[in-house]
Amino acid sequence: MHWLDTIGGDIAMDFRANPATLANAIPRAIEENGSTMIADTTAITARRERAAEVGTVFDAVVVGAGFAGMYMLHRLRGLGFSARVFEAGSGVGGTWYWNRYPGARCDVESMQYSFSFSEKLDQEWNWSEKYAPQPEILSYANHVADRFDLRRHIVFDTRVIAATFDEAAKGWLIQTDRGDKVAAKFCIMAVGCLSAPNRPNFRGLDDFRGPIYHTGEWPHQGVDFTGLRVGVVGTGSSAIQSIPIIAQQASALTVFQRTATWSVPAWNEKLTPEYLQAAKADYPALRAKARARPTGFYFPFNTKPALEANPDDREQQYEEAWARGGLPFLGAYGDLLFEKAANDTIADFARRKIRGIVKDPVTADLLCPDNVFGCKRLCVDTGYFETYNLPHVKLVDISRTPIERFTADGIEVDGVEYRLDAVVCATGFAAMTGSFDKITITGRAGLTLSEKWRAGPRAYLGIASAGFPNLFMITGPGSPSVLASMIQAIEQHVDWLADCMGHMRDIGAASIEPLAEDEDAWVEHVNEVSKVSLRSTCSSWYVGSNMPGRPRVFMPYIGGFPIYVQKCNEVMTGGFSGFVLEGAPVGNAAPEVRYTERWRVPLDIDVISPAAVAARRVPVV
Ligand code: FAD
Ligand code: NAP
Repeated sequence: MHWLDTIGGDIAMDFRANPATLANAIPRAIEENGSTMIADTTAITARRERAAEVGTVFDAVVVGAGFAGMYMLHRLRGLGFSARVFEAGSGVGGTWYWNRYPGARCDVESMQYSFSFSEKLDQEWNWSEKYAPQPEILSYANHVADRFDLRRHIVFDTRVIAATFDEAAKGWLIQTDRGDKVAAKFCIMAVGCLSAPNRPNFRGLDDFRGPIYHTGEWPHQGVDFTGLRVGVVGTGSSAIQSIPIIAQQASALTVFQRTATWSVPAWNEKLTPEYLQAAKADYPALRAKARARPTGFYFPFNTKPALEANPDDREQQYEEAWARGGLPFLGAYGDLLFEKAANDTIADFARRKIRGIVKDPVTADLLCPDNVFGCKRLCVDTGYFETYNLPHVKLVDISRTPIERFTADGIEVDGVEYRLDAVVCATGFAAMTGSFDKITITGRAGLTLSEKWRAGPRAYLGIASAGFPNLFMITGPGSPSVLASMIQAIEQHVDWLADCMGHMRDIGAASIEPLAEDEDAWVEHVNEVSKVSLRSTCSSWYVGSNMPGRPRVFMPYIGGFPIYVQKCNEVMTGGFSGFVLEGAPVGNAAPEVRYTERWRVPLDIDVISPAAVAARRVPVV
């Protein structure tokens, strides 16, 4: 049976005569039937029965309305699927809804840190700065929601607390903290990689008389630190961005540093109309070039090895890259994240820069990291190191003597009490898996995802996990995710998922699930390929070691975005090899490609090296 047949005889006939009727037919079908996904008739009957029990049935429920959830919703609606999005916050934007701390902005250039699926959207939106501030990125998210009419499918202020696989219905029962119970064929986790704040349980927290803020849950009304003695715990990207601004307001600022951090100047600037016009004149070409890069965004990249350059040329190259600033600084040479001796050269250069900026030699020493340059996520700053030259700013080393406790009046370290009126915890996130852990996700045979992932996340391509049919994750562990420009990584996943779900409807498949052996091989590959990069050598949130008790596993795929995309394309072309599709009369047939075509970029090994080179040392499984 064709899925259109269930829309209702007249409408379906009408649609075949006049495709324009589809736009009206689908909402009517959704209203009348609750769903347009009907080919898998046994399962849909079961889902209808569940609908009677639970209230509503959808083709898909999406958890989260950040960029991932929004774009997933757009694609689902484009395919005519019924969908509901649940979002814990009161608005769209995810990261940019929650992280409203002073100085928050992107560190991938705005012209690239944005959706690429709509040329019209690209042309009509004007970014004001090279690195847009948080309010502007949030406005952009709201603009996208309005422009693509997404809001009416999103339920805000509602947290999904449980998702349970229903074997008979081959679908999911989803529960929220507001008492909603809905059924859906697909459950799509768009919960974010950096969305579960890490709030260390410091002793005496409740004793502290002042407010304690977390950068990832910043008050919407803002915070005025004027005249206050402020403490900031942490020196990662959020701290690096907020410290210079907080220092402008506070009467005294004390920064508690566990690990010194590498940071490169942003050299942020306003974008002129001429620049915007020139960039937009060839926007599709820029987007295409970005897709071919290991990072999913484009910047000048020198593939030559640092170790082959003579010291004077190398110094010159680093000076030029520093002058351009930002994350592309790491593109000064091709071997920086793969050869320790090469990395030492850039680390020495950056340490000299820090010592050149920070006047007090003791503070400068403390601010100089001793780990691999770029091992933790590289920070991008505006006046971070300069801030320590201000007389009211103090750095406290807590690497050997951690924070002992919070007192009524401040923070105590090594027997010394630092008196504070307010504290900012810039302590990061339970990255990659933290928001999954907060939902009781129960798959086949009662196994929960948290149980399955106890020793580290296991997902095929970072998209799906064996034992959890029809459950998808966007930028899940095992995909490039946080090692790529994330909006590109999100779009690639969503387009792939949309084609996958469209294909399942085409062939009448009831469920899709990774094969355990393919998942194991992929997880093993992700682990193996991580070892060729120096990034696997330090304690960072990439490996979960920013928080006590988490298993140490390198979670994102570091083989490079294009290599990964090629693997996803091959899996799709091969009729979803590595997955089992149930309930379809035909097997793993090659699908109709609706959205993924734009991700088929030719692999230019020179350009995508060294990630490609590294990945080839550990062949993609
Ligand atoms: P998120 O934006 O995290 O959205 C997930 C949403 O899911 C959230 O709104 C959350 O409330 C919701 N949610 C989670 N669990 C539930 C639940 N159980 N029920 C209901 N809702 C739920 N990446 C870059 O590539 N470039 C950058 O410059 C960059 N800058 C960043 C700056 C900051 C401060 C941070 C924290 C991250 C940054 N990132 C950056 C990464 C950023 O997270 C991604 O770029 C992107 O915004 C992620 O979108 P997302 O939709 O996948 O996740
Ligand atoms: P983060 O990089 O994990 O930094 C957290 C900081 O808090 C680290 O300095 C960490 O020290 C410290 N910390 C954590 N627990 C602590 C404890 N118990 N005691 C003392 N110190 C503790 O988190 P983040 O700064 O929020 O950034 C997370 C990621 O979000 C970034 O890496 C980036 O991907 C993204 N982000 C991007 C931007 C941007 O520029 N666009 C801005 C913010 C965030 P250790 O290093 O010792 O663990």
